[in-house]
Amino acid sequence: MKKILFASSETHPLIKTGGLADVAGSLPLALAELGQDVRIIMPNYQGIKNCEPGRYLCTVRVNNCDVNLLETRLPDSDVIVWLVDYPPFFNFPGNPYLDEAGRPWPNIGERFALFCRIIVEVATNRAYLNWHADIVHCNDWQTGLVPALLSLEPNPPATIFTIHNMAYQGLFPGSTYAQLNLPGQLLHPDGLEFHGMLSFIKGGLSYSDRITTVSPTYAQEIQTPEFGYGLEGLLAHKQSHLRGILNGIDVSVWNPANDAYIAKPFSVDTLKDKQINKTALQQQLGLPVDPETPLFGLIGRLVEQKGIDLVLSCLQEMTTLPLQFALLGSGDKSIEYRLQEFARLYPERVSITIGYDERLAHQIEAGADIFLMPSRFEPCGLNQMYSQCYGTIPIVRKTGGLADTVVDALPESISNGTASGISFNDASAAALIEAIKRSLVLFHNRPVWKKIQRNAMIKDFSWQNSANQYLALYNEI
Ligand code: ADP
Repeated sequence: MKKILFASSETHPLIKTGGLADVAGSLPLALAELGQDVRIIMPNYQGIKNCEPGRYLCTVRVNNCDVNLLETRLPDSDVIVWLVDYPPFFNFPGNPYLDEAGRPWPNIGERFALFCRIIVEVATNRAYLNWHADIVHCNDWQTGLVPALLSLEPNPPATIFTIHNMAYQGLFPGSTYAQLNLPGQLLHPDGLEFHGMLSFIKGGLSYSDRITTVSPTYAQEIQTPEFGYGLEGLLAHKQSHLRGILNGIDVSVWNPANDAYIAKPFSVDTLKDKQINKTALQQQLGLPVDPETPLFGLIGRLVEQKGIDLVLSCLQEMTTLPLQFALLGSGDKSIEYRLQEFARLYPERVSITIGYDERLAHQIEAGADIFLMPSRFEPCGLNQMYSQCYGTIPIVRKTGGLADTVVDALPESISNGTASGISFNDASAAALIEAIKRSLVLFHNRPVWKKIQRNAMIKDFSWQNSANQYLALYNEI
């Protein structure tokens, strides 16, 4: 049994801004089920909910700050969560990175540097909790200083650094280095320095024993200038220590046979009941109820990463095709506005819901026929996996985790029973509309469509498989 300290800036369902929280709320559970001793550590934000209030454990002094450690658990589990409680940094409304007005926290470097120092103390100093870590599993730039600081300790625990999105690196002006009182030995081009700046993520990449990212294809892509954001050379240099391990999905939450949010649960054996969910969704969104018209769904952050600009470029043509489109998301205000314009002009074809709505997300996954996910880049992506579980055939751009989890419906994959979606290569509106037209042809070929739906629904996207791969990696180091 390994003692694993799992460090993350966000954990579902306590606080979430994206896929990292889903991983932090699921992978430790799956590792605990494999018999490992896992503790999650995260900051005690004001916005934390869905857990018992933290119980005081001890006070840790780092860099002249007295920081309390509190203990709670992931809901409905025995997995311990240690909350790093330092009100001057974390007791504010807003999310882990932005204030209530959506502005980045001005002292975000200081906040996460403190978080990193506490992780190092907890991992190495038995005096505090009578516990020490064999492995510290760090996630994204907010924990990047941990492997760097641990490298200065005698007999440090082994470290893994997981990249959930290379686009976020924790870059700060060079002067921040002195302000944070970081040890001088780490400030050099093979350490935390990046072109005269301080890079948190480089601490993770340069000093950890293994680097992972959330899909095998993304592990390759980040070694290229297009996806590496200046760190492709370092990643290529580290490639023998770099792995891609796909995220799983929480099959207790995303299971069409047992989903309290949807009109009628269904499974691969009762696929006809999916129709009841489609009708309910069409009614709810004010779209004409029509089983024969394919209903396209899209859920997600309305940002360029998700290829939403490609969707906008296609929407005019989509309104001339025999289809309906239901979107749920929020993000870039001008994108939101342009999407809402289409809903106003074509209410029979287009429904746009701006906001964050878990229930509607489930209803769209259950009721739509086809799911659009034309991301420009996608480290792993979750919605394409949810879609397949719900027999909602995803149209994806062949990148990152989308390339690894969706098998394009071509004659060969249809006949050998592996086809589970539709994929396209170019990040262009022309390629997306061609894929949409291809899906319409397949949709109306009912026997083939049913076959693709079956293939998709019986795939195993559970965490068990991924957790076993992480465990093998822990054992390796
Ligand atoms: P990312 O982490 O890049 O945002 P992922 O596909 O990995 O993308 O994960 C996004 C998660 O957030 C999924 O669980 C998705 O269903 C959910 N989500 C995104 N936007 C919304 C929304 N507007 N309403 C409900 N759920 C959403």
